[in-house]
Order: sequence, then C-alpha cells, then structure tokens
Amino acid sequence: MTFNTTAIILNRRAFKESDLLVTFLSRDLGKMTAMAIGAKKIKSKLAGHLEPLREVKLMVAVGREIHKLGQAVTMNTFGVHKSQTPEAVWQAQRAAELVEKVSPQWQKETKIYDFFKQFLSLNFQSKFFPNLFSFFTFELLRLAGLSPELQNCLHCHDVISPGKNYFDFQHGGLICSNCAIKTKEQNQPISNEAIKVLRYLRHYSLTKSLALKLNDNLSLEIKNLAENFVNYQI
Ligand SMILES: [Zn+2]
Repeated sequence: MTFNTTAIILNRRAFKESDLLVTFLSRDLGKMTAMAIGAKKIKSKLAGHLEPLREVKLMVAVGREIHKLGQAVTMNTFGVHKSQTPEAVWQAQRAAELVEKVSPQWQKETKIYDFFKQFLSLNFQSKFFPNLFSFFTFELLRLAGLSPELQNCLHCHDVISPGKNYFDFQHGGLICSNCAIKTKEQNQPISNEAIKVLRYLRHYSLTKSLALKLNDNLSLEIKNLAENFVNYQI
C-alpha cells in the first residue's frame, strides 16, 4: 500500500552505507519511521527534502517490516535557513526531540502537529520570544496528557492558596507547604506569579500567552520549571 501525506521531519540517521532512516510526524497518521533507500548518495534528490524540521509532502510505501519513502517535496522550511541563531536552532531541535518522545507510533496527532508547526514558525521569526520554548514545553505536555495539577495539593488535595508552595516534578503538580515538609520527593519552590502563569497557559493560545510580560526572574523560573518537568515526565 502506498499513501501520500504531509509530515514534519523529526530526525534522520544513517542506515547501512547509503540509506537513511527518517522519523517524521505525519498529520494524518502520526509518528512513523521509514527508510529512504540510497538517500545518502551524493546525487540523491530525496536527501535535501528529508532534513529535520522541514514540512514535506511524502509518498510512503508501507511494508510489513519496513516502510519506504518514495518521493519527498519540501513545502515549508519555517525560515530555518534565514535566521539561524544558535538558540533558535537548539530550541527547534529540542522541540523535535520532545515531539518524537511524546508521540506514539501510528496514532493521529493533529493537535500536536499543528502546535509544533506553529512553534516552528514563531521560533524562526526575526522577533525573538524569550518564553516561547518554555510555553511550548508545557503545552506539548498538556496535549500529550501530561498536564500538571495546578489547583489542589497533590497530597492533601486542599486548594492551593498563595504562599509557600512547591512543584513536584515526579508526580506532576503543586504541593502545599505542609505536605512539602512531609514528603521527600524532588520538590522545587514555586512563586505565586509562576503558578498564575502556568494556569494562564492552559486557557490561552500560544500567541496570546507570548504577549505576557514576564520579568527576568519569573521568565527564568518558568524556564527551569519547564526543563525539570519535561525531564521527569518523558
Ligand atoms: Zn498539601
């Protein structure tokens, strides 16, 4: 069976002497890995279209054990080649890694696809959004069903009120000060402002959230929370 699909290339690695194994997120079929026969050869026309972080139209031949890529045509490079600040490139590569980790094989993930695409477009704009990657991380985890508990304490279930609260990365959510003393998990203090930001992210789109003005300390706090949380969760 052969089908055509739109996909974003997540990564590729060499296979044998001249082939490439390409992992991509298809908008209609989810995450897949397929082989591009001969794509490592210098004259291969396929290889250029199979670079990570491109949106491409792919023709895929589904096999019993191995799927093969027929054609690939680039539709969108997201400006990757225009504004390659090291930070933007790092963020995009890391985002692709996270998308690969949270997406199950062969399961349609339209929301994750569209969100990842939106992130890539914003990431390579000439305007730099300092909180983009942190916000992306929290929203991606939410779309993958890994949203932290932000209303009630994970242990005693009391409503979290402003004050000394903690974020439990392992169990994914907030812990009140009373319970934080009793538990020995990996908890990090979280400010009232950071809790507000995380709650806000749930209800508003990425573009609207990016309009939030966070001071440097708060921005750094959210960044650390996002990094630690994603590392514990996936
Ligand atoms: Zn508690």
